[in-house]
Amino acid sequence: MPLVDRPSLDKARYEMEVCNACRYCEGYCAVFPAMMRRREFTDGDLNYLANLCHGCKACFHACQYAPPHQFGINVPQTLASLRAETYAQYAWPRPLAVLYRKNGVTVAVVVALGIALVLGGLAFLKPEALTTGQGGEGAFYRVIPWRVMAGAAGLSLLWSMLALTMGGIRFWRDTGGGLAKGGAAAQAIHSVLTLRYLGGGHDGQDGCNDVGESFSQERRAFHHALFYGFGLCFASTCVAFVYDHFLFRAAPYPLTSAPVILGTAGGAAMMIGAGGMAWLKAVSDPRPEARQVLGGDYALLALLFAAAATGIGLLALRDTDAMPVVLAVHMGVILSLFALLPYSKMVHGLYRGLALLRSAAEAKQEGS
Ligand code: SF4
Ligand code: SF4
Repeated sequence: MPLVDRPSLDKARYEMEVCNACRYCEGYCAVFPAMMRRREFTDGDLNYLANLCHGCKACFHACQYAPPHQFGINVPQTLASLRAETYAQYAWPRPLAVLYRKNGVTVAVVVALGIALVLGGLAFLKPEALTTGQGGEGAFYRVIPWRVMAGAAGLSLLWSMLALTMGGIRFWRDTGGGLAKGGAAAQAIHSVLTLRYLGGGHDGQDGCNDVGESFSQERRAFHHALFYGFGLCFASTCVAFVYDHFLFRAAPYPLTSAPVILGTAGGAAMMIGAGGMAWLKAVSDPRPEARQVLGGDYALLALLFAAAATGIGLLALRDTDAMPVVLAVHMGVILSLFALLPYSKMVHGLYRGLALLRSAAEAKQEGS
């Protein structure tokens, strides 16, 4: 079996050719204008269009050629399948593309291993830390020394950044290469931060067709909660670093301190966002869904929910005897999340961002 299977390419090419003749959905999102700039579709073009699609499903509900029509056009489903195949195609190093074959299982196994590694390592190397009650300033680091915590997190994050950079370079080259001018970057960043294309038709005013034919802004709102919640948790970690290294105050910090306020708000937002997105997937119309990618989607949402929930659990239990175990579980989940950044659906942020950059650059070139 080849490392990377591409069963969706031919179907995507056929559907883009039909859409390019029809063009009824041209105002719905960035995919259709990008499609209309092409007469033929290379594999790289299709990979680009697949990652430009946000899966709002507006074009499925608008399509007169959707099943049961004999043309069987189902753009959201086809591009979602192809999108998942691109994650494997651009994975670095290439042998790790196998991690995308059953991505839900991969995510579950890595998280279980991460938790077992931290808990087991602690039980083996420092068993008294798991059973002795801890409290007061520096309590976390008496369980897991700061150097071990920062070293493990830093190493897994560095590896993931390298893998993501290599994947991003491969994607960019394969989809056309070249340079994007400054204005295009600003437009792409705006589209990412506002999730403009989760708006469906009419330039973001209506929302997605997640549950059925009716429009809703729920998916956009839940995705914003997850995205910005993640950002707040990252800000909390950065502020805690400043507290530790420049103000010489070791965690855990008071409830009214900036790291705790930022982390609590971020964690709560992430739980709402991840839970809400999982709920929307569960109740959504299955017809435009790509069933084979759902396992990976749910697994990532569960991982993000667990990262936030164990962080909030640690805050709630930090002055109890349960703190060392909860800290070890939280650490195992966070390390798994870092390690899985390039080998889970988390990569969609990178490739979609680059696809939006290419789309903005093409639109500017067309207008100039
Ligand atoms: S999705 Fe259907 S209606 Fe929309 S452009 Fe394609 S063929 Fe036409
Ligand atoms: S599902 Fe939405 S984002 Fe994807 S091609 Fe159709 S209209 Fe565009």
